[in-house]
Amino acid sequence: MSKYVRQRGSKTLKNGDIVMNYHCCRSGTYKPKGKGVKSLKSQGSAKIGISCPAIIKVRQSTENVVVQYFPNHKNHENQLQHFRLSESDRAAVAGRLKEGVSEKKILQDIREEITVDSGRKMLIEKKDIHNIKRDFNINGYIKRHEVDVVSVKLWTQEMKNNGENCIVFFKEQRQSGNDYGLKDEDFVLIITTDFQKDMITKYGKDKISIDGTHGLNTAMILIYTQFW
Ligand SMILES: [Zn+2]
Repeated sequence: MSKYVRQRGSKTLKNGDIVMNYHCCRSGTYKPKGKGVKSLKSQGSAKIGISCPAIIKVRQSTENVVVQYFPNHKNHENQLQHFRLSESDRAAVAGRLKEGVSEKKILQDIREEITVDSGRKMLIEKKDIHNIKRDFNINGYIKRHEVDVVSVKLWTQEMKNNGENCIVFFKEQRQSGNDYGLKDEDFVLIITTDFQKDMITKYGKDKISIDGTHGLNTAMILIYTQFW
């Protein structure tokens, strides 16, 4: 994958057609953005004195748009996708994940801020975010199984095996729930952390409220939150 940038504005021909050329982003001369030598060194530059013939030519008339693509690169390596994201980029993404920013938002923000010097970052994709979550040990990364119900079951087993007693009650579908007045097709998972137990015994003596939320998952399962 390569990135192409328009180095000059569009040109309007005598007949009214508009012509735009998108050059390989590695081609051309580097224009410092006023930060001098330091920014040049710290970010590295994608285009110092390189002339690459790869280009996308766009010609727009009232009837159609004609695009000519010359895909052959020259005078530079063009395998960004084989590079790793820089550690600082990875750390920045990890920081935002820890703040609870969604993957979608992170990807969107990065794509909006991309410049010609973004390097490998401009190819960031979901897989990179997953790797960052794994490497930075960010909670919630582990999806144990593609099928949600299986994933949840594996998680509950893991909690038990680890001696975590946050699972108050778990009933899968097709498991009998007669004793509790539940139907066989009901799915119920009740979770309480130690902290929540402490809080509810401390403050929840008189009354307890519950609140239902729907639409959080595709399985149409409701989540009820107990509070006081
Ligand atoms: Zn090129």
